[in-house]
Amino acid sequence: MLYRQTAVMGIGQIGASFALAGKRAGMIGHVVGVARSQRTRDAALRLGAADACTEDPSAAVWEAELVYLAVPVQAMRQVMCDIAPNLSAGCLVTDAGSTKAQVCDWAAELLPDTVAFIGGHPMAGTEKHGPGSASADMFAGTTYLLCQGTASEPVLERFRELVVAIRARPLLVDPHRHDEVLAFSSHLPHLCAAALSVAIGRSRTEDLLAFAAGGLRDTTRIASASVEMWRGIFATNAGNVLPAAGMLRDALDEFIAAIEAEDWERVASLLAQGKDFRDGLYGLPEE
Ligand code: NAP
Repeated sequence: MLYRQTAVMGIGQIGASFALAGKRAGMIGHVVGVARSQRTRDAALRLGAADACTEDPSAAVWEAELVYLAVPVQAMRQVMCDIAPNLSAGCLVTDAGSTKAQVCDWAAELLPDTVAFIGGHPMAGTEKHGPGSASADMFAGTTYLLCQGTASEPVLERFRELVVAIRARPLLVDPHRHDEVLAFSSHLPHLCAAALSVAIGRSRTEDLLAFAAGGLRDTTRIASASVEMWRGIFATNAGNVLPAAGMLRDALDEFIAAIEAEDWERVASLLAQGKDFRDGLYGLPEE
């Protein structure tokens, strides 16, 4: 066993999945889960993701060898402030937040020199939230991005071992590079799904579902995700999201201009550009 005593701050979908996967792999022992609501704490205990639960972050980290932060990104700073005085020397703090530069800066500023910090971001999860949507298989076959933070090589290697044991592929990345790429691979798609839902909702079109095939569901699915979580992601990666959103606006403007001009060759060319990119990324659609 790598970490005998673990505290999970925010035992929701990702925190509970990490606890379940780590326990099943025999890599983490006793888990203390933290959540604000009794409902979340009860669900985490029922699932077996936590052995004990509390609403008090500072009490939970007492004697912890591993502290896993899985609250929304904008709550990370306060949680770090709350736990800093009670962290044991030699403990590893890591997080699962969806943006990395800001979280790594907070960790360097707020956590004591006696502990190590590794930034983390599992490329897993769904649009659902809470421990009820957790799974021990959540990370299987996925990439688990890691930012070295203040951890030494041996400390990083030990955590990598845990990541491999929960069947994910660890990949070391610079936090700024992480945020630049995620702006396109995750944050822009989410913005797009949310804006699409806003626009269709405002149209007040009646009988939408009776007239919809799979496209509406596919393209709006991620707009159902936690508002609190996504607010934090946009707030901590605005510098990369804004230029990405500008590129989306340019592409939309090009489509609109071509349609207004009845330039169907141009429309087809833009559609082909989009199709080529998508097919190159995920392969051709099945016949
Ligand atoms: P979640 O299911 O909503 O769980 C969030 C947990 O944090 C809950 O236990 C919640 O407690 C607690 N919490 C919420 N706001 C808090 C606050 N202001 N202060 C203290 N605790 C708070 O969310 P999740 O999907 O597990 O996401 C957790 C983290 O993982 C986020 O940083 C997110 O960016 C990242 N992440 C998510 C995904 C994904 O697809 N879901 C993927 C990768 C990374 P209560 O239940 O009591 O409110």
